[in-house]
Amino acid sequence: MSRRRRGASSRSTTPGWGFWRRSCRASRGELPRARRVHAARHLRLPGGGDAGGARRPGLSLDEAGFEKAMTDQRERARGALQGHERLVAAFRDREIKSRYVGYEREQVETTVLAAEGAPGGGGELYVVLAENPFYATGGGQVADEGWISLESGQLEVFDVVPAGDYQVLRARPVEGETVEVRAGDRVTASINRVRRQQIEANHTATHVLHWALRAVLGKEVVQAGSYVGPDRLRFDYRYTGKVDEDELRRVQELCLLKITENQPVRYYTTTIEEARNLGAMMLFGEKYGDLVRVVEIDGFSRELCGGTHVRGTAEVGAFKIVTNRKHGADLYRIEVITGREALYYLIGATETAEELSDSLRVEIEELPGAVEDLRREAREAREAQKAQALSKGLAEVGSLVESAESIDGAKVVTGQVVAADVKGLRQISDDVKNRLGGRRRSSSPPPSTARRSSWRTSTPRSPRR
Ligand SMILES: [Zn+2]
Repeated sequence: MSRRRRGASSRSTTPGWGFWRRSCRASRGELPRARRVHAARHLRLPGGGDAGGARRPGLSLDEAGFEKAMTDQRERARGALQGHERLVAAFRDREIKSRYVGYEREQVETTVLAAEGAPGGGGELYVVLAENPFYATGGGQVADEGWISLESGQLEVFDVVPAGDYQVLRARPVEGETVEVRAGDRVTASINRVRRQQIEANHTATHVLHWALRAVLGKEVVQAGSYVGPDRLRFDYRYTGKVDEDELRRVQELCLLKITENQPVRYYTTTIEEARNLGAMMLFGEKYGDLVRVVEIDGFSRELCGGTHVRGTAEVGAFKIVTNRKHGADLYRIEVITGREALYYLIGATETAEELSDSLRVEIEELPGAVEDLRREAREAREAQKAQALSKGLAEVGSLVESAESIDGAKVVTGQVVAADVKGLRQISDDVKNRLGGRRRSSSPPPSTARRSSWRTSTPRSPRR
């Protein structure tokens, strides 16, 4: 029953981007909203902002002055905004009807709704399109990149910023071109498809990994954040236990299993209640709207997610856990590469193994044993060298003792011995003291003149790995 509902809802009633963005924005408590609250609290006069509180006997209100102060304050606040917040603020209050189509389309013919030069200059432009295929940074997933083709030239899109119900594209002319953009211009907007595929592979892999961690370590594993880019994925999770090598290997194997099974990946929109009933994974502390987007990988993974995904898990291609490190009492950070990156990595590792096997003249499978043999041989050689140096040093002790001089009633030995390490040197020194008559360290302070046996030693370089 729910399947029929999903089929119907994923096309016609998809509320798309807005609700998901709204829910994320609300939960993050972004600056502009906070600033509005600030203005209401600190700038409006008592009495609901209509300056009624000032209308008291003996008091008059400079309404024009009040409005000017408000405007100045808004300008100051806007000027204080940094980076993309400034551009989002520039567009936020406008009536713009833009539609995100990036779940279904990679390229669209569309119209420019708004275009402005960046305050910093440098040729950078902020562009809003009527239909936008570019994903804006959100939910751990990085923004798309791509191009906008106009009659006057081509722009490259290098960042996409959420601005309420729509997205602002940060763009600049491709090298050497001068491009004019105005509202109403017809354009072709295309995302960098290859880059997007890598991002999607990493995002779907993140969901598979989340499931596998819970399958191996238990349901207490809680997602604590993620980064999904074209190069890799990073997944932070809370877990109080220790994750050992064996468990990590099982996580890796489970992920590969699900990826190579080519399980279909679907998404649909539903109510938050139904998503909860279906057991969809939600981020703790995240505030969601009434309607939510669920991403489901057949039969095993179901998460609330606004990101973009591959259509079948086999598109992830390859999956390799690179690190799993502890970042606090119960926080782990796992990093994974997939697809092309994983294949490059694995080919590089194989080539290194092949080089080693050539130089050691063994098969790749025999490398661990061959390396262990080498280490053992090196260790034995080091020990033999130490023993040899010690026996040579001890053999020289007799002549050293014979050459001892008597100065102010103390015997002083000067000489040079070869020892493999400090321990060997100490043994030689003890032997000299014993032969000199068992001198022990006295509790009285040593005389000011040198009365110790003095040594010049040279330590042979020991073979190091
Ligand atoms: Zn997701």
